[in-house]
Amino acid sequence: MARFEEAENRLFKIKICLKCNARNPTNAKVCRKCGYKGLRFKAKEPRG
Ligand SMILES: [Zn+2]
Repeated sequence: MARFEEAENRLFKIKICLKCNARNPTNAKVCRKCGYKGLRFKAKEPRG
């Protein structure tokens, strides 16, 4: 399912703010919403 792969790859190319859980671009250094510096990559969730 190439489409799903694309969608998942896109999902993994974001960072999540640890404070407000806002999605940010991977090149962001601070959360664009609250300015918090604690950003993490969206974790891969193993399936099956
Ligand atoms: Zn935030």
